[in-house]
Amino acid sequence: MVSQDRLHRLLSRVEIDSAVKRLASEIASDYHDKNPLLIGILKGSFVFLADLVRQLDFPLEIDFIRLSSYGSGQQTSGKVKVVQGLRSVVRGRHVLVVEDIVDTGITVAFLMDYLKKKKTVSSRLCALTDKPSRRRVPVTIDYLGFNVPDKFLVGYGLDYDEKYRNLPDICILEE
Ligand code: 5GP
Ligand code: MG
Repeated sequence: MVSQDRLHRLLSRVEIDSAVKRLASEIASDYHDKNPLLIGILKGSFVFLADLVRQLDFPLEIDFIRLSSYGSGQQTSGKVKVVQGLRSVVRGRHVLVVEDIVDTGITVAFLMDYLKKKKTVSSRLCALTDKPSRRRVPVTIDYLGFNVPDKFLVGYGLDYDEKYRNLPDICILEE
């Protein structure tokens, strides 16, 4: 087990589960007849996406993209690069991007713009958590789980140096 002493639980697995179910029901009512393509941003969104899609009882497809923003440490440089691209054709599709956390907004703003250029029919964003106090570029979150404080979070897919992604709760990692 990972040591728990620097971790303080912010969102329990029970709270996350009920948010996932609420988001799934909103998404189902908008997409049940649209065969959407859900795009998870790697790596952080893999747990959320896996839980979300198992609450969606209609045809859909799943793909992943890996993006990186270059910079030192935890500061983003504002330049986003596609590290691992999509395999699916997005042109003509209804696309729903699934993200673990929106912070400065730079990553998802880049992806939404990239998708628009690829001529999707629609592209929307579902984010489990949002740190609105940190925003540097405007982002519309169409389906949102929780607003969270400006703290460094781990668990439920979120990592610190690749650790803690497997925690079932979302925790604040104390410095
Ligand atoms: P943005 O481009 O919005 O600044 O960055 C979003 C990305 O930064 C997220 O997908 C995530 O990888 C990372 N990030 C932002 N805040 C946190 C946090 O509190 N904890 C972790 N583990 N990653 C974060
Ligand atoms: Mg991420």
